[in-house]
Amino acid sequence: MIECAELRRQRPGANSRRVHAGWLAVWPALLAGACAPALRPTVETGKRAPDLVEIVTLDPSIHLDIRYATAHNFVGRPVYKEARAFLQRPAAEALVRAHRALAAQGYGLVVFDGYRPWSVTKLFWEVTPEDKKEFVADPRQGSRHNRGCAVDLSLYELATGREVEMPSGYDEMTERAYPDYAGGPVEARARRALLRAAMEAEGFTVYSSEWWHYDYKDWAQYPILDVPFSSLSRAHGAGF
Ligand SMILES: [Zn+2]
Repeated sequence: MIECAELRRQRPGANSRRVHAGWLAVWPALLAGACAPALRPTVETGKRAPDLVEIVTLDPSIHLDIRYATAHNFVGRPVYKEARAFLQRPAAEALVRAHRALAAQGYGLVVFDGYRPWSVTKLFWEVTPEDKKEFVADPRQGSRHNRGCAVDLSLYELATGREVEMPSGYDEMTERAYPDYAGGPVEARARRALLRAAMEAEGFTVYSSEWWHYDYKDWAQYPILDVPFSSLSRAHGAGF
C-alpha cells in the first residue's frame, strides 16, 4: 500500500466550518485517487494462449449457482452481468471428468464461479476488511480465477437436484471455511472429503482457507485476464 500519512498531515482542520465541509465532500475521492496503489493486472509474457470454455457447453448436467450474478454474495450486490462460468479448456475437461466420477456416489458438481475478470478481483479486495483479506486475492498478484484455472464449487444430489450442506456456506469468511475444519455435521465433512478426492484425482488442489476453491495444476501457464463475460462467445467459449 502507498502510505497515506503525508496526506493525512496535510488535511485541513475545522477552523472554518464552510471550508471544512467542502473538504469533507471531496476527501473520499481524494483518498481513492491519491492513496490507492496504481493497480493494474501484472504484465506477463511467455504464457499459453487463453482458451476459455463455457463449462456447461462441455456437460450441461453440471449445475451453475453463480452467486456473483446475484445479490446473494459477500459484496451484497451483483458483480457479474451474466450468470456464466468459464475455465481454460484443460481445466474444464478435468472438471467434467470429476463430475462424471462423482455420479457413482450420487452427486454432481455445482459451480459458483470459474474464470473471474481481474477488475472483479480488484473490487473484492477493496470491499474486504483487512482482517478478512486471507479470503480474497491481492490484485497486484492477481487470482488464479483471473487465469481461468480456479473454480469455486460444491456438490448437488443427483436424486433431488439440491445443493448439499457443507461445513460452511460459500464465501463464509470464518474458520468453518477451512478445508480441514473439524467441526460441523459429520455428513457435511464427508461430502467435503468426497468433493476433494474427486477434484484431486483430476489435478486440482484445494485452497487452504476455502473448502470450495480449487486451483488447476497448470494455472501458472496462463496469463491474468480482464475480459468481460460478454466478450466470450457462447458457442465456442474462447471467442476473443
Ligand atoms: Zn475461489
